Amino acid sequence: MFACLLELTLFRRGHGPGRFQHDAHEFLRALCNAVAVASLAPFKFGDDAARNFAELTTLPNVLFGFDVKRITRCDECGSACETNERVLDLDIPIPDTNACQQLRSLIASMFADEQLVGREQYECNACGRHCDAVRQTIIDSTPAVLIVHLMRFGFGNDARKLATPVAVLPRMEFGGAIYELVRRLLFFELR
Ligand SMILES: [Zn+2]
Repeated sequence: MFACLLELTLFRRGHGPGRFQHDAHEFLRALCNAVAVASLAPFKFGDDAARNFAELTTLPNVLFGFDVKRITRCDECGSACETNERVLDLDIPIPDTNACQQLRSLIASMFADEQLVGREQYECNACGRHCDAVRQTIIDSTPAVLIVHLMRFGFGNDARKLATPVAVLPRMEFGGAIYELVRRLLFFELR
């Protein structure tokens, strides 16, 4: 198995009104979407089962797709709610710091248990009220090619590129599978 890592910042042309931004990740998503739409065109008027199967067998899905399961358990009544999501890549938020971050640690923190307390309390259907809860995020299947998108953009008025150094090992475990680094793409802002 191999990993393809996309590290990107802003690729900008022009300034002021009418300016537009593109990056490698946006391009990849647009390309995957175009391939999926073209692949599914013959099934446009087919039945749901055929279309669902076709969606799972599009090239982007076969290459990059994997499943993430989220289980939220209410602290009050113990009931659990499970959701499943099919994703094509990992969007990794990057902290704004000068300290070097390990990619595997950033990924591990994405899949660490999340305490939903205070303003983040969980609205429990079983209790009918807001409760403290714990959310587990589980890698339910692994992709043939893992795409990691380091989100190096700031938010709000401070929308600058984050220059936080991120260390990437040539081999990495993800969901029990071992991935080897194939490509690391860097896009720099053009002015
Ligand atoms: Zn509850």
